[in-house]
Amino acid sequence: MIIVHLLKWYREYGRDLPWRGTTDPYKIWISEIILQQTRVAQGRDYYLRFIGRFPDIQSLAAADEEEVLKLWQGLGYYTRARNVHAAAKQMMSTFHGTFPSTHSHIISLKGVGEYTAAAIASIAFNEPYAVVDGNVFRVVARLFAIELSIHTSEGKKMIKEIAQSLLDPENPGRYNQAVMDFGAMICTPAQPKCMSCVLQEYCMAFSENRIGKFPVNDRKISVKDRYFNYLHIQHHGNTFLHKRNGSDIWKNLFEFPLIETPGPSDFAELEKTKAFRQLFSKVSSLSVDHRLTIKHQLTHQAIHTHFYRIIIPDELPYNPPQEILKIENEQLQDYPVSRLMHKYLETI
Ligand code: SF4
Repeated sequence: MIIVHLLKWYREYGRDLPWRGTTDPYKIWISEIILQQTRVAQGRDYYLRFIGRFPDIQSLAAADEEEVLKLWQGLGYYTRARNVHAAAKQMMSTFHGTFPSTHSHIISLKGVGEYTAAAIASIAFNEPYAVVDGNVFRVVARLFAIELSIHTSEGKKMIKEIAQSLLDPENPGRYNQAVMDFGAMICTPAQPKCMSCVLQEYCMAFSENRIGKFPVNDRKISVKDRYFNYLHIQHHGNTFLHKRNGSDIWKNLFEFPLIETPGPSDFAELEKTKAFRQLFSKVSSLSVDHRLTIKHQLTHQAIHTHFYRIIIPDELPYNPPQEILKIENEQLQDYPVSRLMHKYLETI
């Protein structure tokens, strides 16, 4: 009966989203990747722009990574963008430029995990795989008053098994979309709409008046503090960028020269660092005309950031270190940058 009520509710109230009503696996894939760590309201515009520019596997595979990152700018979690680009190339080389049609092949694509593979396989190819994401964990944990933590392997296993048993084998895609919408619209993390919920009579958490207890979540996320100091250098109508590399956050995105310090520091302290002296080794005069402090929160990191706009007089020469790229100010908007950089650029 849960399925019947859920599907009836979905027919009436399901969200009208640009990727609904299609069985094109490419479009479903892009929408699911965008929505992994993004709210629907924000993801919708990105999805439309992305599909407008890259309507199929071929166009995405042929693109430059910088263009893909640029389109992703502001969404955060840029590994997703690099992965969809790599997966499009993988489909060209391994699947003859077509989207794989079985769950086992779909999950072999770069960046595609169990949730995304289940969503694509069920919606595009009618394969009976239940999606299990945060929404589903919450809905199932409340409906069945599951006392196990959703961060234990036993808790995960139990919820996955229940979710799979609830799946409508006739129409797994529609069922999965219904449960996603139900979790996002009715059985929400805070203040679920229990009084208008069509599953209320089946809900153990509701009948026991213990909704706030579920899902059981006993994990504490440890957050590391980092201290970034960005130097927005201005000289002769030019600005200076650095491309991030290595295994740290924001790989391959561009940013102003960065000095990371072990703790909070002001500009006077920054001037004494070796990195600062290397950046301005032959500069006899500079001034700061704009400062901004931003705290940028990532899942596992809190980035405490100072931006300094540094003016070097035009009549003085300035030759930055080799790894720093000199560009004209107008070109800045062509480079993919992190959401943190984007926030600063909106202020100037
Ligand atoms: S009654 Fe409340 S807690 Fe239970 S499924 Fe409905 S919205 Fe969720």
